[in-house]
Amino acid sequence: MRRLIDEGLIKLKIAKPKRDILLELGIEKISDLLAYYPYRYEIIEEQQPTSLDPSLCLEAIVLNRARIAYRRQNLSKLVVDVVIDQKRMTVSIFNRHFLINQLIPGKVITIIGKLEKANMITASNIKLQPLNEIAKITPVYSIKEGITSKSIANYVKKAYEAVKEEIDDFIPDKLMQAYRLISRRDAIYYIHFPNNRNEIKYALRYLKYEEFLKFQLMMNYLHLNHLKGVGLRKDFSIKKVEQFIKQLPFTLTEDQLNVSYEILADFKKDMVMNRLVQGDVGSGKTIVAVISLYANYLAGFQGVMMAPTEILAKQHAKSLQTYFKNEKIRIGLLIGSLTPKKKLEMQQAIRQGEIDLIVGTHALIQESVDYNNLGLVITDEQHRFGVKQRQVLKTKGNRVDLLMMSATPIPRTLAIALFGDMDVSTIKTMPQGRKEVKTKFYQGHSMKPILKFLKEYLETGQQCYVVCPLVDQSEGLNAKDATSIYEAMKKYFDGHYEVGLLHGRMSDDKKEQIMNEFRENKIQILVSTTVIEVGVDVSNANMMVVYSADRFGLSQLHQLRGRVGRKDKQGYCFLLSDTQNENSMERLAFLETTNDGFEVSNYDLKLRGPGEVLGEKQSGIPTFNIANVFEDQEILKHARDDAIELLAHLEDYPKLSQMLNEWLSKVEK
Ligand code: ADP
Ligand code: MG
Repeated sequence: MRRLIDEGLIKLKIAKPKRDILLELGIEKISDLLAYYPYRYEIIEEQQPTSLDPSLCLEAIVLNRARIAYRRQNLSKLVVDVVIDQKRMTVSIFNRHFLINQLIPGKVITIIGKLEKANMITASNIKLQPLNEIAKITPVYSIKEGITSKSIANYVKKAYEAVKEEIDDFIPDKLMQAYRLISRRDAIYYIHFPNNRNEIKYALRYLKYEEFLKFQLMMNYLHLNHLKGVGLRKDFSIKKVEQFIKQLPFTLTEDQLNVSYEILADFKKDMVMNRLVQGDVGSGKTIVAVISLYANYLAGFQGVMMAPTEILAKQHAKSLQTYFKNEKIRIGLLIGSLTPKKKLEMQQAIRQGEIDLIVGTHALIQESVDYNNLGLVITDEQHRFGVKQRQVLKTKGNRVDLLMMSATPIPRTLAIALFGDMDVSTIKTMPQGRKEVKTKFYQGHSMKPILKFLKEYLETGQQCYVVCPLVDQSEGLNAKDATSIYEAMKKYFDGHYEVGLLHGRMSDDKKEQIMNEFRENKIQILVSTTVIEVGVDVSNANMMVVYSADRFGLSQLHQLRGRVGRKDKQGYCFLLSDTQNENSMERLAFLETTNDGFEVSNYDLKLRGPGEVLGEKQSGIPTFNIANVFEDQEILKHARDDAIELLAHLEDYPKLSQMLNEWLSKVEK
């Protein structure tokens, strides 16, 4: 049966122009309107000033007639003496001289303002009623041109009245009682129209818990379902793996070793591995992947390594070739830009088991790719891949182990909560000799302040990245584009240094050519968009300039600067931005203070939420509507435990079970 709550706003008789604006705010259905929570409240209630906060909201009795202190055009100042709590005070009121005839002796009013001195108040607002008549909480909604917060409140009220009978909970009674939660219907009402702070508190408690519980139920349900099959026990010689590790050109860090052994231990168990390896940029995740692929190969299985870009896939293929130069491992590259003939040949070789290791991009998960004996799938820079893409790859083999690598490391407890039942390994230690990238934020959008430094740096024979948010000018107004910066730099450095341009709209051949020229130091300055964001490793390039840096997320900037300061070289990162926004400036300045990816992602998560930072579409982690993964970690933990418990006895909760299916069918789309 179709319910009103799922219908469009037209059912509320909201006119088309307003509906269009609401749609821009993401409100399409009646249920969306109910879930459009206020982002803050305007609260009028008694407030006594303190030494920390001189703001006040107090009832007062007017003592004598107000006087005009001055009045010029529309600037004016009224002064009135009042009594507050038996104390005489003088109140200044600016630009509201029209109140003069209302402020008569004996009148009870409410003053909202600030205590200036012991007996002096500056009013920002005067209400001509006693406090108890005007005390109230008003919801404040984020709005767009053409709609006010007040009208949204009215629509919400209308919606609520129309569908309140249809609002029902999915949280089992047991939990409702255990946490003493109010009903969903009340929570929705109170979050929009609270009469006091307590009602807000109870509404928030319910809605946050509900949001987390729903998320945990879905994550864990998906995970349980795919774990159902048992995995294959992989049989390989640990000694051979250790020999391989010994002959590597460097000594593994402690964390690299530990994580490698965790993975090897998973291989030996007869369960499906589902492991996330998180480590900062440059912490050396690739070698962990290489070791895993080696063990998987020794056990007689094909291995796949999937990268988000062709540049990265090719780079991985190259390093695998180097790492395995003494082995008989056959390595294949499968990417979209191969000629159809080559692609077919590669696919056939994979199918017939003539290839042991396949490196590639999304081309790896196309329908037409069949594997011979797939045992391990590794996704590098996992946040760039969708939940679905990973699932598809897994279905290509029989109980395939999955290893995901993420360069946006987050605290372990949070990772476990957000990534469902994945096992999480963390690489914290950096390879020896790695220096911190020196980061500096410059206000403005010109290279002038760093030009001298850049020239001196280039004279040392090293190379430089210049990153811009846009490809060319047509795309937008207030941000730098790679094409114009490239032209300008080419002119400037003509005869001295080669400048190259790299962006996503180029053909793959062209991209590869430019990247190779940069690798071979035929290009000294590479002007680029974020195609170089992930994983690209050119150890002679140790300086980076980012234009319009405010256009990027912090985690993204951290990834970008991870390109420089490779090996034991000093890396430099210059962030340019002419933003006037204080928050943006603060964010950029924050990057000057730390090189620790955990700290960066923490800061970023707090500001933008996990959906934005870890990628909603990619990782399946939503931007929570009302709950905050940092402030509400306790609730998140409870929700996770409860979800696991509920799923273990799902047959006892038919209603929940049905809802779960409904939600999941929406995700599938
Ligand atoms: P990321 O974790 O960002 O993917 P990479 O795996 O690309 O990092 O490693 C970054 C660089 O560090 C590479 O050039 C790699 O060869 C080097 N490296 C990795 N591990 C070590 C180590 N233990 N000692 C020295 N260098 C290392
Ligand atoms: Mg990497």
